[in-house]
Parts: sequence; structure tokens; C-alpha cells
Amino acid sequence: MEKKAKIKIAITIASLAAISILFTRQQRRRRKLNQCSQYSCYLQSEPKPQHNFKRVLADNSYSPFKHANKEKSSGSHPYELEITALLENPRPEFDFSNVDLDLQRSDSFVWVETKSQLNELANALSKEFFFAVDTEQHSLRSFLGFTALIQISTEKEDYLVDTIALHDEISILQPFFADPGVCKVFHGSDNDVMWLQRDFHIYVVNLFDTAKACEVLSKPQKSLAYLLETYCGVATNKFLQREDWRQRPLPAEMLQYAQTDAHYLLYIAKCLVAELKQQGNENSYCPDDKFNFVLEASRRSNTVCLQVYTKEIESYPGEAAASSIFFRLLNGQGGVSSISSVTQDLVRRLCAWRDLMARVHDESLRFVLSDQAIIALANKAPANPTDVYTTIAQADSDVDCLNLSSSLPSPSPVVCSHLDDVERQVCNNVENLDDILLANLQKCLGPNGSCPLSVFNYVLPAKSNWELKNQSNKFVYKQNGVKVSRQVAKKASRDLFVQKFSCKSPVYHNCRIYANDGRLLCYCDRKKLEWYLTRDLAKLVEDNPPAIMLLFEPKGRPEDEGNEFYIQSKKNICVSCGEGNHYLRYRIIPSCYRIHFPEQLKSHRSHDIVLLCVDCHEVAHAAAEKYKKQISAEFGIPLFIHKVADSRKAEARPGFSASITNFEAGVSPLQLRTAAMALLHHGPTMPSNRREELRRIVMRYYGGREISQEDLERALLVGMSPRERRRHAKKRGLSLKMSKPTDFPDRQQDSYPAVMVESATMDATKADNVLGLHAIETQKSGEKEGRSSLTESHESKPPTCSNGGIDQLVFSTIWKKMNSTSKVSDSKDDSVGNVDDECENSSVQNGFGSSSPTPNSKVSLLGHGPHGKQVVDYLLREYGEDGIRQFCQRWRQVFVEALHPHFLPAGWDVMHRREFGEFSVYNPAKKPADDGAAEINKMHH
Ligand code: AMP
Ligand code: MN
Ligand code: ZN
Repeated sequence: MEKKAKIKIAITIASLAAISILFTRQQRRRRKLNQCSQYSCYLQSEPKPQHNFKRVLADNSYSPFKHANKEKSSGSHPYELEITALLENPRPEFDFSNVDLDLQRSDSFVWVETKSQLNELANALSKEFFFAVDTEQHSLRSFLGFTALIQISTEKEDYLVDTIALHDEISILQPFFADPGVCKVFHGSDNDVMWLQRDFHIYVVNLFDTAKACEVLSKPQKSLAYLLETYCGVATNKFLQREDWRQRPLPAEMLQYAQTDAHYLLYIAKCLVAELKQQGNENSYCPDDKFNFVLEASRRSNTVCLQVYTKEIESYPGEAAASSIFFRLLNGQGGVSSISSVTQDLVRRLCAWRDLMARVHDESLRFVLSDQAIIALANKAPANPTDVYTTIAQADSDVDCLNLSSSLPSPSPVVCSHLDDVERQVCNNVENLDDILLANLQKCLGPNGSCPLSVFNYVLPAKSNWELKNQSNKFVYKQNGVKVSRQVAKKASRDLFVQKFSCKSPVYHNCRIYANDGRLLCYCDRKKLEWYLTRDLAKLVEDNPPAIMLLFEPKGRPEDEGNEFYIQSKKNICVSCGEGNHYLRYRIIPSCYRIHFPEQLKSHRSHDIVLLCVDCHEVAHAAAEKYKKQISAEFGIPLFIHKVADSRKAEARPGFSASITNFEAGVSPLQLRTAAMALLHHGPTMPSNRREELRRIVMRYYGGREISQEDLERALLVGMSPRERRRHAKKRGLSLKMSKPTDFPDRQQDSYPAVMVESATMDATKADNVLGLHAIETQKSGEKEGRSSLTESHESKPPTCSNGGIDQLVFSTIWKKMNSTSKVSDSKDDSVGNVDDECENSSVQNGFGSSSPTPNSKVSLLGHGPHGKQVVDYLLREYGEDGIRQFCQRWRQVFVEALHPHFLPAGWDVMHRREFGEFSVYNPAKKPADDGAAEINKMHH
């Protein structure tokens, strides 16, 4: 009896405990579900180290990996020739025997995380004939994985290279890995060789793989742990290899592990080579190469080098994973056909979705959604987000019970941010998978996308080439023709562009300004209203959209000028096709010219900056670029500066011989900058003939004299616009502060480069009088000329992204990809950027105008800025301001002919010219003669 009661109590307690555990578990789950936001991507709040990478060679798109290009390489491997040469004729020089290798591992190593430390490593490697290498990889929180650490050991030193911090710089090690004269020792190099290609375009040539040597020697084992133990008496904890190698700082234990992995390799190689030689001698009755064991090990090793990294290509996304799941589902019985077609379909959909999401978020498949969760979802087909959530959590916790090591969040943050999408994959069996995926992609990365764009996923929509894969799979693509898919992909790519670069808010606020008698004076933006309001010059009369009434009498009314243009509201649509969802500002008069206009002529800006959708923008810009070329030919003024030379007198510098003999003076600014940059960054490590070649280019800028380090630094700054210069200075940061101050040419009047005119490109007399600066000496005439001619322009540079989310480099790549000829001009920080200055209407403006932008910064010499300056100067000199007006009319004509716009505001006119009131600040004192304008018309039409 008593016993029974005891059991009863025990059971009750146990069940209560079980219930409460279940309850709290569910509570926790529910709480977690609530925390799961379906509207914003988890990545917004969880930055990952790879997001700081600027250059990513293997992105997550479905397109094949691009290998490095090298001259004379025929196949896909850039060093095929060098490696096959080694295979046919191995270098029998793995002679480590006379090298003093230290078996003792000291605790010290060199941690390499800055560029200068990396340069020191490069310097050290340039003296070595062999070094040992190992790499550590991170693959859980990345789609393709990335190299988190490279360990390099020389005879003297162990280096641990932080390849996360130095991701974009590591390529300076390329030459050492590719040098057939330097032997690289790895253990089990197959993966490392691929990873180095994938992340850094590092190709290994001349490899000695200690694992291959073990094979040749028929060792009982070929693991590194075995070799470390047998040859070095060192035990290692191989569990550490699965640790998260992204951690910084790395725990001491992991640092030690990493150092150990490479440190002993040279010593082990030395022992193994000795054994290989020994074996060779024992088999010396046969002098055949086949029995030269050292050569055989070398051949096997270098065969590894010949492999090329490729991205896995599937006939539909997630195909391989789906087949492996089918096998698991089968549990050994029946064929795939024994799984219901509904389940098969679901598994395929979920695998495809997982594949796409992993690429978008740069996560591994396992991290996004486990195989067991896919199976559970396919079996249960949950009907709402909560069910999806619990199904996944349950499936993962069941497996977790068996495998304690797994501690991944379940469901993953990816699933949490996209729960409704998962549900759609499961519930919707009508839609074609291709469409669902593209819809998902557009939702994530599209116009109102929720997930961040990074170098890893930005090409995803543009390059998704699923359409190429459908032949092999009837299931996915039976309804979709190749063309449809390509169009959809193209559209996704364009949408992405629109999302990133179109105006984020309406350009025209259409605020109104009334005169104190209630008559409308103009439309303008909010800022202008505030200007009047804060100064108590006006009162607010309406709220939405806001309108003010001036409290003073303006000197004149728009009607007096007979120009309706300034008193109409403007629509936020593409003036060409009427598209209202996205638009960018377009400058009808290219800024390379406009920036040089006299102040009073710049005030037409609201007339000559219009809104265009991305597509129309592209068309207009292409037409404008073409017309620039025409102008260049017509006026004989080249679009780019051909040559620059230092205008300083060559100072007599101690230690420099005057070697200015027979030297071609002057050099293209682009060539100059590239050469100076390469010398400054890679000078010490580049081959000497190349270095000499580059040095001679820079010397041409300095009139052929010998150049110093300081000259190089100065050459780098030639022709930089202030913005480029600031960026440059920032980048150099500390190193600049620490080195002795270099003179920045913009502070020094004598250091303007002289712009040389290449007489071959134009008629010499014309050039003379068109440009007014014909030779090095002419330019010397003054700082004044230099200052005014070098005015900032954004024409030739890719636009800066206003939302800062994307790297400049990435941007130019996108843009180049999407459109090989045209560019979007940026507006935010441009002096002509404000479209909303209709208020510049002279009558209102009198006495209250906002200060006009001062164009005294300098243009990049690499752009069209100098061309623009010369054209404008010529027009002003020959035809006065009317020449400029006519010039503007020509550009408006070009614009109209390119687009035939249907939605231009009323009053917009090719012939538009703004007359200024008698009292206008812009009213020119003397009017230029009209016959000048007639003449220019004759001349150019
Ligand atoms: P190792 O060649 O031992 O230096 O390993 C290099 C990298 O391969 C490690 O950083 C891991 O990312 C990966 N790796 C090697 N073995 C395993 C394993 N058994 N499980 C997971 N990852 C591994
Ligand atoms: Mn390792
Ligand atoms: Zn349009």
C-alpha cells in the first residue's frame, strides 16, 4: 500500500515536472516567435566580418567562378604551363638536408594584421626558397566559406596572417606562391589550394605535400596528427580545427594550434624527403624516374596545384541537397518513386528556397535550415507561420538530443525573418518554382528589399542563370521558356539598381510662395520656405503641401517676365515616359561644362535638371556622351587631358644627378597615377624591370630627373579632385601622419601640373587660341588660371552613393555591368544639385537670394572637367554669354531628340532663356551683342 502511494506521488511529481518543462519550453518558443520579426532582416542587427570585404572573387551568384587572367595561359588554370613544366621535369631540389630546422617550437609567432606587417612578411618571403603553409577556414556563417587565417612558417619564423582583416590585401603574396623557384610545403593541400584560389587568386606552383609523400612511402597513416606524433613527438587537439576561426582575438589555445599546424611541416618534409631518397636508393636497380620517390611525391603534389576552383553548378538550386534528402527519406527501401510526388515537390521547393536564402544572406545551407527540418516540413506541410516555426524547432531539438554538439539557433534567424516565405513554399503548389524564387529574390533584394545588399549577393539577380539549367529537369522549368527567365533576371537586376540609386523621396515638394496680395509667385522645396519663415519674412498659410505668404513686397512678378515655367507645380515622374515609381535627377547640360559657366548663367538649373527614370536616364546619358565627343571634334578640344608635367623648376637636390637628357616630357595623368600608386604600394616586391618601367613613367612627369619617395607621393596627388584627395588622405591615415609631411599641391601655387596639349590631336593654331594654354610654359603663367580651371566636376567618376551602403568599387562594377557606356550623375553633394530653386526667380530673389555655390574647388584631371573648362572659356571669349546660352540650347535639343519626352513641365523650352528684372542681381551690366549668337549658330549647325 505504502509503496503504491509512493509510486503514485512520484508519478505525479514527474508528470508535473514534465508538464511544467513542456510549458516553459512552449512559452520560450512563443516568446521567441514574437521576437522573430518578419519585416526586417536579422543581418541589419548582426554584422558579419565578411561584410567588410571589399573585393570578393567568389560571390554567391549562380555564375561560374572567374579565375585570374594571365598572359599566355591557355586553359582555365593561369599557371598551367608552369605547373605542367614541373610535372614533366620536376625540380629535384627538395633538399632540406643542409637546412637547420628547429624542432623546438617557440611560443612566439608574428601576428600579421596590418598592411605594413603584410609587406614585412612579403619582404621576408622574398628571401626564402621554401616555406610551409596551412589555412583555416570558416564555413558555417558563409555560403561558400572564407579563409580566416593563413599560417606561414619559414625556417626562422612562424607567421599567423589575419586574412579577415587583410582580406583585400592578401593578393600581394601571390607572386611567392606562384614562383616555381620557391617550394611550398603543405599537408593535405587539396582544400587549401582551392580556398587560396577562391579567396585571393593565389595559385600554388611548386608544392610539396607531406600527405602525398606519405602515400608514396606507403605510410600506415597520413594524417598530420600522426606525423606530428611520430616525427616530432607532439600531440594536437584536432577538435580545434572545427572552432570558429573568425573570432578575434583568437584564444591562446587556437593560436597555438594554428602555429603548430604549420610550424613542423618543414621539419617533417625534411624527414620525409630523406626517407624518399632512401627508398629511391634501395630501388636503385631501376634508374627509371618512376622509382625516383622524391620526384614521384613532387609530381603527385603538383597535380593538386593543377586543380581549379569551381562553384558547384546544379541544374536547379538545391538539387544535390534534395537528392541526398530523398535517400535519407527512403531509409533504404524502395526507389525515389516510392516517395509521394507531393513530398518530393515540397523537398525540392524547400531545398531551392534554402539555397537562395543562403546565397542572399551569405550563410551555409546548414545554418539556414537543417535537412531534418526540411524533411519534417515536407511531411507535415504546416499551414501557418507558427506551425512552420514549431515544426522546425521540434525537428532540430529531436536531433539535438542525439547530437549534443549542435547548438545552432533553431529556427535560424534567416527562417525567422522569412517565415511567411517558408509557409508559401509549403502551401503553394500551383506557382512555378522559378517564379516563386524570383519573387523571393525581389522581395529580399528588390526595390523595397528587406535584406542588406553586399558584395556577396549583389550580382545574384543579374547573374542567375537558372534558365540554362532547365533541360535536365522537367519538374522545375516545364512552363518557363529560356527567354522569360532571362528577362525576369534582367528585371530583377534593374530593380536592384533602382532601389539603390534612385531618389529616395520626392524631389519636388511643391511648396508654394504667395505674394502678400495672394498671387502665386513660385513653387519650391521646404528648405526655401523655412528660410523665409525663420527670418520672419513670411507666414505659413497652408499646411499640406505647405505654402507661405511673403510679408514684404517682392520687386516684380513672374507674369511680368512672361514665363510660366516657374509658377507651376512639378510632378515627381520621369519627364520622358511618366514613370512615377523611381526617378533620378538628370542634368541636361553636362556638369563638366555647366560648372564653368558664369554665375548668372547657372541660375537656370531648375529648368535644366529634370527627373528621368533609370531607363530614360540611360538613353539620355548615352546621347549626351556621344554629343560630347562631337563637341570635342568640332571645337578641337580633346575630352581627356593627354599629358601633364610638373611645372616646378627642377630643384637641385643633393644626391640626384641631373639626368634630363633626351627625355620625352609629360605623361598622361592616369598613367602617372597608376604608376605612382603601384610603385608606392608594391615597389619593393615587384620585378625590377617592371619597377624601372614604372619609374620612367613617373620621371617623365618630372621632366626626366631622378625621383625620390616624396616625388612619388606628390605624383600620386596630381590631378586629384579635393574629394579624391581627402579620401586618399583618410586611407593613408596614420602612415601619413607619421611620415614627414608631404606637400599637398593644392596648397602650393607652384605645383600645379602643366597641362600639355597633344598637338597631334588638333590643329595647332586652333588649339592655341582655343585653349590659351598650349605648352608647359604657358600654364606657368599663373596660379589664377590653375585655380579657376580646376573646378570640381563629377562627370567622369561613378556617382557616389547617397545611402552609403555600397562600396564605390562595387558600385562601378554594377554600373559597368548594367550599362557599359552611361553613368548617373550624383546630385546630393553637387553644387548644382538642388532642383528646387524655382525661387531663384529674380523678382522674389532680389536681396534675399541664397548664396550661390562657389566653384573654386578643383576638377579631377582624369575626367572631362578640363575639356569642359576649355570649351566654356572658348565660347565666352568668342561669343560672350550668348555663346553659352546657345550652347545650352544645343544640349536641350540633344536631350529632346534622344528621348522625345512627353511629360516635360509646361513652359519648358529648348530655347529657354531667363531674362532678369531690372533690379535682379543676375542682370548683366552690359548685354552681349546678338550677332555673336547668330554667328555661333551658323558655325555649329
Ligand atoms: P586543417 O587542414 O586541419 O588546418 O583544417 C583546415 C580547415 O578545414 C579548418 O579550419 C576547418 O574549417 C576545416 N576542417 C578540417 N577538418 C574538419 C572537420 N573534421 N570538420 C569541420 N571542419 C573541418
Ligand atoms: Mn590547420
Ligand atoms: Zn522613363
